[in-house]
This record gives sequence, structure tokens and C-alpha cells, in this order.
Amino acid sequence: MEIQLLPLAEKKPRIEDESQLAFGKQFTDRMFVMEYDAGKGWHSPRIQPYGPFAIDPAAMVFHYSQEIFEGLKAFRRPDGAIALFRPRDNIRRFNRSATRMCMPEVDEDFFLQALKQLVKLERDWVPRSEGTSLYIRPTMIGVEAALGVRPSSKYLCYIILSPVGAYYKGGLSPVKIWISDEYVRVSPGGTGEAKTGGNYAASLRAAMEATEKGFDQVLWLDAVHRKYVEEVGSMNICFLYDGKLVTSPLKGTILDGITRRSILTLVRELGVEVEERALSVDEILDGAESGRLTEAFGTGTAVVVSPVGTVTYRDRTVAMGGGQAGELTLKLYETLTGIQCGKIPDPHGWVE
Ligand code: PMP
Repeated sequence: MEIQLLPLAEKKPRIEDESQLAFGKQFTDRMFVMEYDAGKGWHSPRIQPYGPFAIDPAAMVFHYSQEIFEGLKAFRRPDGAIALFRPRDNIRRFNRSATRMCMPEVDEDFFLQALKQLVKLERDWVPRSEGTSLYIRPTMIGVEAALGVRPSSKYLCYIILSPVGAYYKGGLSPVKIWISDEYVRVSPGGTGEAKTGGNYAASLRAAMEATEKGFDQVLWLDAVHRKYVEEVGSMNICFLYDGKLVTSPLKGTILDGITRRSILTLVRELGVEVEERALSVDEILDGAESGRLTEAFGTGTAVVVSPVGTVTYRDRTVAMGGGQAGELTLKLYETLTGIQCGKIPDPHGWVE
């Protein structure tokens, strides 16, 4: 399929002061769009000026939430080249989400080519200062205009780009985490492993209550026992416990994070043993108090690594590893961000 390039009449004003860049507030001049019709497959791929779509009010996405998305970043390297971090992993996860939600897959090579072509055209939008990047948001929605619960026969797939500022302005700041014992995010057999909007809609109530109580993020427990740690907000979570890196296993209820995957590789290379196993709330709270648990951090594309300062469960608040970013947490942050922005060699071929 040939990607059509539509003319751009005018360019948007850009935020020159990169310290003013927020997350996901400003979008670039162009976007990639393609359409799907049952029987015809994907067609009409194009890069066009960024702007609203005309979508029928009966479009299935508005009623039955057939929607998936991805999130990855492009970085400006010291030589000025623009690099993507593990983009194929994101495209593969996009396709796994599509399959779970009865949506059509995209061709991996074609989609990567489209993504690269769009980023190349928009390269002036990739910010330059340390810690900044261009956030890439591939999205797919069911757009057949029909009521009735079944998979849509028509889809719209698009990629939009947003320049983002440095997440940490002065060192890694530890977050305050609240464990929800009332709400659950997903249950076994549900859609937890898919990156679909409904999971995030389901998380809002608890996140809002956490914010009202003065916390930064919600930690979700498993839906069956209400006991085992799953993930945090839009991050996977890792603990340094008895000198081993312990993180929740991928068993369908949490997102298979690409940062998580990268961190596990780096940790093993540092000679630290990794355990992917269920870890209970008691284990982390008691472990932090007794000194067996020495570090806790979240992992995700937006933050890369986020140290956990305190964890609150019911009436109990416990500082994780002294409440500050630990040695391993800092080392992993430096290494992964170094690989992403080209300061450290990339022996794994993660950057392309
Ligand atoms: N869990 C959830 C629920 C998320 O939304 C994200 C962000 N995509 C993650 C974990 C971390 O995944 P990644 O490292 O691929 O960004």
C-alpha cells in the first residue's frame, strides 16, 4: 500500500520554551490515517493535516467501546537523528489488543514504515532538551454506524504525535501510592492485557478518590483474592525483595509493559535475579518495615522509572526503602534513558 501525502496548508505555532511542554496537550501538524472495511481490508493510508474526523453518532466505538491504542516515544539523539524505542514491540502489542477486542490487525512492517514516515515528516517537533521526547499515539476505533452489540465491520486507525516535556524536573521524585481495596481494575478472563480505553475508564473512580486523599497513583490488587499486587496506574511495578527483583507475572490481567520487559533484561545483566511471581500486600508492607524490601518502582513509557515513596493500605502507610529512590532504581533509570537518547550504547537493538 502506498501512503498518500496530503498537502499541509499551514503550520501550527510551536512551544519554543521546552520547559513549558506538558504531556499530551499539544499535537503536531500531521497525522497518519487509514481505514478498514470488512471484505476490503485496510485501505486509503495517508498522512494528512492533523484535525477532527467526521464520525457518525451511531459509530460503534461510542456505544460499545471497541477501541485500542498504544504509546511509544521518539527521541532526538546527540547527532540530531531521531530514534524510536522498541517500536515493533508496541505494534505487536497493538495487534494483540486488536485480536482481544475483535478488531483487525495491522501489517507490522507497513505500520512501522507509516510510523517512521510520519515521525520523519514531523521531526522538527521532536524537542531537544534532556528528558523530552515526541510521544506517539497509535489508535484504532470501530466506526460502523450501527447499534447492536457485535464487532464493527469498519475501522479507523490513526497515529497522532505530541511533544512532551521532561517528566522529572529536578531528580526522580518518589510517588505516594494508595492501594485500592474497594475497586478492581480488571478480572481474570477480562481485558486487562489489552490496551483498550475501557480499562482506563474503569480506573478513573479510584484514581479520583486517591487524588482527593492526596495520593499520586492507585495500586491495583488482583480481583479474585484482593491480595496480590498487579500494577499501578499506567505502570508495571517492581520490588527489590531479599536482593531479587520481584514483579507480577503476565497472566492476562496486567499490561505486558515494554519498559518492564526492558528493565527485566537490564536487571538480569546487572546480575540481579528476577522473580515474576505474585506478591501480596502483606509481603510488601511487612517487607518494607523489616528491611527485606529495599526498593520499589513503577515502569512505563511516560515516566520510564518512577520510585515509590510510600504505600498506603487501609490505615497503614509504609515507606518503601526509606522513601527515596534506591540505588538500583536510579541505575536503571540512567541506563534506560541513556540508551533511549543515545548516550549509552544499545547492545540489544532496542533503538531504531
Ligand atoms: N500498565 C498499564 C495499565 C499501562 O497503561 C502502561 C503504559 N502503557 C504500562 C503498564 C506500562 O507499559 P509500557 O512500559 O509499555 O509503557
